[in-house]
Amino acid sequence: MKTIFKPLTETDEVLEAAHRVAMQEKQAEMHALIAAAKERRGLTIVHTGNGKGKSTAAFGLVTRMLGHGKHCVVVQFIKSGDAATERNLRCHLLRWHRCGEGFTWDTQSRAGDTEAVRTGWQIALNAMQDPEVNLILLDELNIALTYGYLPVAEAIEGLRTRLPHQHVVVTGRDAPSELIEYADLVTEMREVKHPFKAGVQAQAGIEF
Ligand code: ATP
Ligand code: MG
Repeated sequence: MKTIFKPLTETDEVLEAAHRVAMQEKQAEMHALIAAAKERRGLTIVHTGNGKGKSTAAFGLVTRMLGHGKHCVVVQFIKSGDAATERNLRCHLLRWHRCGEGFTWDTQSRAGDTEAVRTGWQIALNAMQDPEVNLILLDELNIALTYGYLPVAEAIEGLRTRLPHQHVVVTGRDAPSELIEYADLVTEMREVKHPFKAGVQAQAGIEF
């Protein structure tokens, strides 16, 4: 098909010139911001809120790290059973620990939940002192903190004393305010719509 180019009108040229000036200003602003960001260190990242995507986004970060050939450790708190099929991923750079007894409303045991969280926390502490590890995902740790299975101050002390190059991602609803204060990057997922409310079942590859 023959492309017909319409000659630019005077108005088009004025718009084009104005756009170029605006973009040049934006470019200068962006370059200044990029030049100002000089620090490089491990981040504490929190995914919280009532919308879907907290763990999904965290697994995305794990995938990205693995793509860079970096070692990752995942500790899953609270959930049990086949809650996350991602653990079936086979990669020599990835260590996966499931330390949950199940949903709190199923276990109905504070003592059992606390013991499982303690086991997971010890694995997390070990990973946070392992120089080979670049990213640690503490999935649903916020739930353990909310229920008091692990004191928030103790969790923050563990994060604070970890190796400085390590990134840690903490997920789960209701992140405690002290953790939000301490973290470098906090994202709140907000539910706008969820198919569960319309009676749609959890589905392989989407929910688990
Ligand atoms: P995902 O693992 O899918 O990223 P999440 O980590 O944000 O979800 P969780 O609190 O861990 O959320 O809940 C996990 C499960 O609950 C998933 O199956 C998810 O689809 C479902 N879920 C998440 N948010 C909602 C919601 N607002 N209403 C109903 N179900 C939800
Ligand atoms: Mg989750």
